Amino acid sequence: MSFAQLGLSADIVRAVTEHGYTVPTPIQAQAIPAVLLGGDLLAGAQTGTGKTAGFTLPILHRLSTGAAAPTTNTATRPIRALILTPTRELAAQVEESVRTYGKYLKLTSAVIFGGVGINPQIKLLKHGVDILVATPGRLLDHMQQGTVNLSQVEILILDEADRMLDMGFIKDIKKILAVLPKKRQNLLFSATFSEEIKTLADGLLNAPAMIEV
Ligand code: AMP
Repeated sequence: MSFAQLGLSADIVRAVTEHGYTVPTPIQAQAIPAVLLGGDLLAGAQTGTGKTAGFTLPILHRLSTGAAAPTTNTATRPIRALILTPTRELAAQVEESVRTYGKYLKLTSAVIFGGVGINPQIKLLKHGVDILVATPGRLLDHMQQGTVNLSQVEILILDEADRMLDMGFIKDIKKILAVLPKKRQNLLFSATFSEEIKTLADGLLNAPAMIEV
């Protein structure tokens, strides 16, 4: 099985190959075709399984191909994919992956997290971001200040959802979910499945594909 056989575009396969990956990991082999179909996904996966490429590759494909591909490079471009992560380290790492795998695509990305100044992030958001990676608390700060527009989000990804709940982000996540368009694709990745995660997944996901590695 190759990345091209999973249905990813040539520009994405080229970036992945240059990055040194030849064979998709089991989570990638399952998640990539499922996400490309456009439905919701519930994935049980630990860190170290290759889950980051498992969701970043197909969302890059979906955002860069077909009728919904970006037509302009101006600052009016809305955020189309929102990736929430529990920590700033993970957020930075995920955005780095988006940049690496998307290097041949005309998509823009940004990362925002707490503990650093908000003004540079405000400037970044003004430039037009297709894919935003964020920690929930700082994203909520931006929502409250009116410096982020989430009204056009097509794909939502909750990465390490169990850790986000452990860190007490459920209220922030609910406030974020409340402003997103109702019609969208949702992906939830979690290493563990407590009752709290199941409740979140039940409320969020619509007939999800389910994978576990
Ligand atoms: P993750 O679980 O997303 O944090 O990825 C774990 C590690 O596996 C990272 O260092 C990735 O660079 C690496 N990795 C992900 N996918 C592949 C692949 N298909 N082939 C080889 N290494 C990979």
